[in-house]
Amino acid sequence: MKRIIEGMERSVTGKVIELVLGDITREEVDAVVNAANSTLLGGGGVDGAIHRAGGPEILEECRAIRAAQGECPPGGAVITGGGKLPARYVIHAVGPVWRGGDLGEADILASCYRNALRIAADRGLRSVAFASIGTGAYGYPVGKAASVAIATVASFLAADPAAPLRVRFVLFDPVTYATYAGALGAL
Ligand code: ADP
Repeated sequence: MKRIIEGMERSVTGKVIELVLGDITREEVDAVVNAANSTLLGGGGVDGAIHRAGGPEILEECRAIRAAQGECPPGGAVITGGGKLPARYVIHAVGPVWRGGDLGEADILASCYRNALRIAADRGLRSVAFASIGTGAYGYPVGKAASVAIATVASFLAADPAAPLRVRFVLFDPVTYATYAGALGAL
């Protein structure tokens, strides 16, 4: 399916951050990053969409990770295979529940992006697509989340030579897309 908005991109020390409007379950990248919850057992929003499209294998792997290491705290991330998705892997990152901004939400959100990129870098993955972590059911204001997301990804790409070459944000609605476009433009 052709995208309605082809996207916007910006290069950071030879690597690329790009934005597209779309459904992350369709992305042909090395890994998609899911906005998971601490249970790792699936939820609504993008998590539900990823498990529906990717099939039961992903949930089985999440259950095994949970049995081995317990819940994933906010700010953390784990990796599974991509099941039936076009992406090879799913990185499940747990965002903060927004409680007004004074309870470390920005640090936790930044940690999600860093931990997901750390996992991708350690596996040598070259292309990663993120959903807008935290800005759905968890209530993180989109403008604030976009600034944290873009700044954190940009500094990781600039600092780590093993970082993926291409990081794509896949935004599900035009308002979220436009907000991320503002943050990327301001970088
Ligand atoms: P959180 O619990 O971290 O807030 P949500 O899944 O509720 O996570 O929402 C995160 C973002 O993902 C929201 O902007 C939501 O619109 C978006 N989203 C929902 N479904 C998809 C999808 N299929 N592809 C990309 N983004 C999606």
